[in-house]
Amino acid sequence: MTSYVLVTGGAGFIGSHAIVALQQAGHSVLVLDNLCNSEAQVMDRIAAITGVQPGLIVGDVRDETLLADLFSRHNIQAVLHFAGLKAVGESTVKPLEYYDCNVTGSVRLLQAMQSANVRNFVFSSSATVYGEPQHLPLTEDHPRQATNPYGHTKIVVEDVMEALYHSEPGWKMARLRYFNPVGSHPSGLLGEAPRGVPNNLMPYVAQVAAGVRDRLHIFGNDYDTPDGTGIRDYIHVMDLAEGHVQALHHCLAQQQVLSTLNLGTGRGHTVLEMLRAFEQACGRELPYEFMPRRPGDVAACWAETSTAEECLGWRATRSVEEMCSDAWRWTQRQYQLEDERAKAASLDS
Ligand code: NAD
Ligand code: UDP
Repeated sequence: MTSYVLVTGGAGFIGSHAIVALQQAGHSVLVLDNLCNSEAQVMDRIAAITGVQPGLIVGDVRDETLLADLFSRHNIQAVLHFAGLKAVGESTVKPLEYYDCNVTGSVRLLQAMQSANVRNFVFSSSATVYGEPQHLPLTEDHPRQATNPYGHTKIVVEDVMEALYHSEPGWKMARLRYFNPVGSHPSGLLGEAPRGVPNNLMPYVAQVAAGVRDRLHIFGNDYDTPDGTGIRDYIHVMDLAEGHVQALHHCLAQQQVLSTLNLGTGRGHTVLEMLRAFEQACGRELPYEFMPRRPGDVAACWAETSTAEECLGWRATRSVEEMCSDAWRWTQRQYQLEDERAKAASLDS
């Protein structure tokens, strides 16, 4: 009987890249996604890259009946849990939706795993749990502080995992704190496709490069950083994806474990440095304008990565240039496809 890794949220940005890395490492994957921020065709694009179509179950992680059925029908060895809502601003407007999806969803999933005696669990946490940095680089023992409901949902789920780990033997779990995932699979077939105006820097820059937005608004040029703009630790999504495979193997190799690991590069880049790197990738200057600081933003944030290196034998290797050139390939392909669809529609009418 095939043994599966269940990937919740596998049609989304990070989950889809993780599936590619999982399949390339020899794992069979099942996906549970309600498609609230993604589309089913992502599975076809994964198949175009790896040659294997992952099975997709369209459904919600909060659906207890569906989860019980899923775990009873399939031999699930481990769960990688990406499904969740992730927009910081939206979480302040719709906190109940965020707690319900992110916290209730995780609790239901863990309950279903407990009932089915599946005890390998890798969770998508975030560097946002650190709040305002008290020291840099950020180490995993840095105090946690939520500055918005989204960040608080990550802290709560981390704590739920801790309580569960201490409540009974045999759980093997990793809490992965991502820094700033960017870039795309180098094929140009997978990437980040935010709906509406992007909140994050790199998807916004990509849309400026594609001519969809007229200029980048840079939030703050008076930070205490070399060029005055904010510093973040940008990590290529394929490095992040490979980190998940290593985290899974780390869990599978233990009798029991609860690891908390930063997944970043350990290097920070300013907004202007990222803009210049994208200009190199797309081959032209991109217009920008300095704006006031964005409320809630910290000046600088980057990871201490030695724990992940020691625990997983993994570190990020892809450069900022690769992050930008891969993201630009994906962006061009997306808009080409849209143009082709629009032309086909106008010929039809
Ligand atoms: P995404 O929105 O692209 O992917 C999330 C996927 O989960 C989507 O396909 C969505 O349809 C699905 N989903 C949402 N709620 C669901 C539910 N209740 N049931 C089933 N499926 C559901 O987001 P992403 O960028 O791939 O992020 C994945 C995870 O990583 C999230 O938990 C996010 O909080 C975390 N994370 C992301 C970032 C980032 O910058 N992208 C940084 C840190 C942590
Ligand atoms: N940023 C910006 N313009 C944008 C989006 C982001 O100048 O349109 C800046 C933001 O102030 C921060 C950096 O880019 O310094 C990364 O922001 P992002 O939202 O991508 O990540 P986060 O702040 O969540 O780490």
